[in-house]
Amino acid sequence: MTPVLSGTFGELRSSHFHGGLDIKTQQREGLKVYASAKGYVSRIKISHYGYGKALYITHPNGYTTVYGHLQKFSARLEAYIKECQYDKESYEVEVFPNSNELPIETDEIIAYSGNTGGSGGPHLHFEIRDNQERPLNPMLFGIGVKDTKQPFVLGVYAYPKDDKSTINGKSSRVKLRLIPKKDGDYDVEKLSAFGNIGFGVTTYDRQDLAANKNGVSNIQSFFNGNKSLEIDFKRFSFDETKHIKRLIDYEYFKSKKSRIQKLFIEPNNPLSLYKDAFDNGYVRVEDSTSSVYRIRVRDYNGNETWVNVPIEGKYANPKEKEHIDLSDKTLVYNNQSTTLEEGHIKVNFYENTVYDDEYIDFKVSSDTLFLHKDNIPLQKNFHINYDLSNYKSEHLDKLFIGRVYRFYKNPLYVSTKRKGNTLTAKTKVFGTYTLAMDTVAPTITPVNFKDKKWLSKYRYLSVRIDDDISGISKYRATVNGKWILMEYDYKTKLLVHDFNDNIVRDTKNELKIIVTDNVGNSSTFEATFFRK
Ligand SMILES: [Zn+2]
Repeated sequence: MTPVLSGTFGELRSSHFHGGLDIKTQQREGLKVYASAKGYVSRIKISHYGYGKALYITHPNGYTTVYGHLQKFSARLEAYIKECQYDKESYEVEVFPNSNELPIETDEIIAYSGNTGGSGGPHLHFEIRDNQERPLNPMLFGIGVKDTKQPFVLGVYAYPKDDKSTINGKSSRVKLRLIPKKDGDYDVEKLSAFGNIGFGVTTYDRQDLAANKNGVSNIQSFFNGNKSLEIDFKRFSFDETKHIKRLIDYEYFKSKKSRIQKLFIEPNNPLSLYKDAFDNGYVRVEDSTSSVYRIRVRDYNGNETWVNVPIEGKYANPKEKEHIDLSDKTLVYNNQSTTLEEGHIKVNFYENTVYDDEYIDFKVSSDTLFLHKDNIPLQKNFHINYDLSNYKSEHLDKLFIGRVYRFYKNPLYVSTKRKGNTLTAKTKVFGTYTLAMDTVAPTITPVNFKDKKWLSKYRYLSVRIDDDISGISKYRATVNGKWILMEYDYKTKLLVHDFNDNIVRDTKNELKIIVTDNVGNSSTFEATFFRK
């Protein structure tokens, strides 16, 4: 059966390149997952977020295959991991079995597909990593998908590199008019330009059997027949994936929700996906010349789309840039740390937090910190500190730093640490932050049972847990004082215990669940149930 994909390798995601293939499972969970080759289980990781329940199999050739968002593992692996979970008294676990512990045969059923972790719908995430943990495009290993359609191009943009460059008389990003051709390629209305310019493209690929908009596998550009740049999504390493923010036009993405892939390389961009870059992908347009810039977009099956951009070289006086008043802006440096301070709030940026030196808005009003807008990409965390020394409240310990979103009633909890009278939050995005308070404990609601009932025929015990303001931090469930495994899904807010774990063996059972939020408020739920 040829797989149908909802996601391709290298596809542009919110903060990373997609490291594998998302294989559709007909909107269902519980489909059998077979090992792609012989090997041994080298890692099992279960987490609330990310890949959810994930299995890693290392093969004799040194490659590792990864299977993510699983519903459950095969009986043998399930027994192994449950032992670890009961041992550590935690649903979230990560183990690295030895090569002789859990051998796997080719085509062995290893798991069942699911929707665990940060998955937006049932599917199998499949990855192949080399011996340095770098994901490779699994399509390189002969996974065939039905794809006879060439990629689509939605937009082409031109960017001046410096103050002397102009495009159609402008010195800022210009959207070019696309003229679709019958064969699926595109022409672009002739542009007049001068100086050093770069281009960007928005594009996606679609396979024959699915409507999903997938990533393309290769983009090349040529100037007057000479290669200018190539972006090849074949392999990358996880520590470079965050620089996706440098590949795309981040400001455009934040305002228009569409990703322009820049076909030029700006400073501080270490991505290894680029090949054959000439002059970092920029082209030089001289006065009174006629040139052509071409973009070639390919999917993995080799279907390709060309865009022709005719350019007339014509000197134009660069217009005075729209005068931006920098007097009320604050400069954050790329190559050194920067500290901004006002009142009881202090912000620490480090070397390489920003890609370029940036003028940003920095304003403090009472407990609210206006720290620019999330339209400048950051490559590292920075810290926001609130000094609470002069803060009067009986609930000092229930304060946290939250990010203010226009569409949410409450500020969203940002991972906050407390040291003496200082609260410190770590974040990687500009925006508005404030001090928030949570004095309300989480709620715990039984879903499929009531106090003092017989649950003999029940397979599962299910409760819903929720915390409105700071969010759930941890939970712990016991029966007659013994820890029981409850699987937590943040998407459904459910905690579920499987009686087949065979931990609950008494007739009369006292259930106790303690749930704690991110500032330490906790709730306890108790109920009695009977089983025989
Ligand atoms: Zn995926």
